[in-house]
Amino acid sequence: MKIICIGRNYADHIKELDNAKPAEPVIFLKPDTAILLKKQPFFIPEFSNDVHHEVELLVRINKIGKHIDKKFAPKYYDEIGLGIDFTARDLQAKLKAQGLPWEKAKSFDGAAVVGNFMPKEHFKDVDNIEFSLNCNGKTVQKGNSMMMMWKIDALIEYVSKYFTLKIGDVIFTGTPAGVGRVKAEDVLTGFIGETEMFSIKVK
Ligand code: ZN
Repeated sequence: MKIICIGRNYADHIKELDNAKPAEPVIFLKPDTAILLKKQPFFIPEFSNDVHHEVELLVRINKIGKHIDKKFAPKYYDEIGLGIDFTARDLQAKLKAQGLPWEKAKSFDGAAVVGNFMPKEHFKDVDNIEFSLNCNGKTVQKGNSMMMMWKIDALIEYVSKYFTLKIGDVIFTGTPAGVGRVKAEDVLTGFIGETEMFSIKVK
């Protein structure tokens, strides 16, 4: 399976990092080795002093497809989940400044938290899903899929122009504002609505 991540999909987060608003979605990949194993803590890697949490809605692909038209996109996913796109912000800043790919900052071991999923039928409207991240019991990020610049179906159309989507692939749909540095002993808990989707300890 592969993990396809979307960057800069929420205007409020673009603003907080002082990035330009993209004309097209920003895409990068994480290998399956980036997935944080279930029940394992997240270890801050030794090459970064500034790892940020980015809470994101996840979409799980359940049908193989390429060049998927937006209007058929709902046939290609059946579950929505929540995860974290851990980002070594200091390293990413260096790579960005040099015009280099972000992978070392985003795709290292443990950098993808893939939490629980819910059947998409659970939601009245996938373009109106509230989610949040708590750090040590305090809400640090809050988002709603309504605020995405490219909504789920548009992302599937765009991403499938470049990559064949296969069963089990996961799309990270981008993070809203409120990203921040994690430190040892933090406990990060993600919610869709009121439902807890993951809880991760930082080491
Ligand atoms: Zn992200």
